[in-house]
Amino acid sequence: MSSVKDLVDFAVARGDDGYEEARQGIVWQENVPDRFPDVIVKVKNQLEVAQVVQWAAANNLKVSARSGGHAWAASSLRDGGVLVDLSALDSIEVDVESHLARVGPGTKGEQLNGALAPHDLFFPTGHCPSVGLGGFLLGGGYGVAGGKRESCMSVRAVDVVTPQGELIRADETRNVDYYWAARGSGAGFFGVVTSFHLEVYPRPNVGMNLSVTFPLSRWEEALRWSLTISDKLDNDVELYLLIGGYPDSEDPSVINLGVLVAATIFADSEEAALAALQPLKDCPVAEAAIGEAVPTTIEEIYALNDLIDPPGYRYAVDNMWTSAGIDDLIPQLAPIIDNLPSPRSYLLWWLWTADDEETAAVSSPGPSFYSAYAIYEDAADDERAISWVTENMRALEPWSNGVQLNDENLGRRYFRPLSDPKLKKLEELRDKHDGSRRFFSFPGLE
Ligand SMILES: Cc1cc2nc3c(=O)[nH]c(=O)nc-3n(C[C@H](O)[C@H](O)[C@H](O)COP(=O)(O)OP(=O)(O)OC[C@H]3O[C@@H](n4cnc5c(N)ncnc54)[C@H](O)[C@@H]3O)c2cc1C
Repeated sequence: MSSVKDLVDFAVARGDDGYEEARQGIVWQENVPDRFPDVIVKVKNQLEVAQVVQWAAANNLKVSARSGGHAWAASSLRDGGVLVDLSALDSIEVDVESHLARVGPGTKGEQLNGALAPHDLFFPTGHCPSVGLGGFLLGGGYGVAGGKRESCMSVRAVDVVTPQGELIRADETRNVDYYWAARGSGAGFFGVVTSFHLEVYPRPNVGMNLSVTFPLSRWEEALRWSLTISDKLDNDVELYLLIGGYPDSEDPSVINLGVLVAATIFADSEEAALAALQPLKDCPVAEAAIGEAVPTTIEEIYALNDLIDPPGYRYAVDNMWTSAGIDDLIPQLAPIIDNLPSPRSYLLWWLWTADDEETAAVSSPGPSFYSAYAIYEDAADDERAISWVTENMRALEPWSNGVQLNDENLGRRYFRPLSDPKLKKLEELRDKHDGSRRFFSFPGLE
């Protein structure tokens, strides 16, 4: 039997020198869970991916994939099996005429938009610049300036290594099961994506942002008001409400404790953008501080989100989609806000009204999405932070329609990763294509 070390330049097995350094490097955040793959390999191209999967099959080992390493719960890091690090697969080929880009899964959002900008094109990547496209698109992708359409719905084809180690292309007409699953099944996908073929879009002319802030004690009124104005806002306005710690706009080293409501619009003209943000100017809460609408760019949104969710910290995250009424939710949300585990931690509310299409696995059973983010520095706070996100979201399960996969915490709290019909279909497809379970599935299931 050949060794995997004959197939790739970098492979370390548990116990080898360099194994622990490679394991720590898999994860973006500072807290690396105590899970230990048998082997970690770094691949340079799709042929190596196929060979590694064939080798894993011959040695009866399971496989997990890692692209940008930003999964909050470090889902690529499993116990046992082969972890395939695809971060070097970060090539970008742009076909300007047809508005298509072929992108490696290890590509970061800012790399893609950096390559598209000279052609006046853009793609709705994650809001933080360094999120990998691999996990982001597989998990649905709730992107910047995306107009409330999951970014995976702009995937026109995927190149995939199957559980049998074959390289295939999947799109609307070929290998349709893989195409369906690759658009939204997240860590439940039964293959390795080696390229995404993306539809890309004209870069918007004008971006404007308007923020309204409130004292923390006014969070309930701020949330109620945000829900009211969400009906009056154009569908292209991205609106979120953050309750907890956020960087001061004048001096980002200062962390404010309060409520930040922010709305961003990308439009054809400044006039249209200002008109779209007008409903935020009519805030009836007396303590509100209403800012002026200011021009913004995708690059500035990246920079702001790097301040809200900075690298170099420990993280715990969990979430829910809900259609519950606000009167039911307020008493359940109060313990989250009353017990923020650190100055930077926050609860996020986001309005997202996408229709779940049958053509893809993605499941966004909103219209609202609440996610709790614990951001802290000391390992001694792990237990408190993990418990704050996990137990509070567990208590909200009676009002939850399911979990948003890009912010999942399924290993600690397994709950409806997809809507019931889509999960049933995914598991049928897994039985059909990966009966021997070559690939790890959702955390919490194994
Ligand atoms: C700071 C920060 C900001 C974020 N902002 C957003 C945001 O604005 N919108 C949003 O939707 N999400 C956001 N996320 C969540 C992010 O999209 C997910 O965590 C996503 O999984 C990260 O992708 P990755 O490739 O970097 O992660 P990885 O940890 O490399 O991958 C996550 C999982 O995806 C699967 N996977 C990855 N690549 C492949 C592949 N090529 N083939 C098969 N399976 C694969 C694996 O199961 C893996 O465990 C953010 C995360 C962070 C840390």
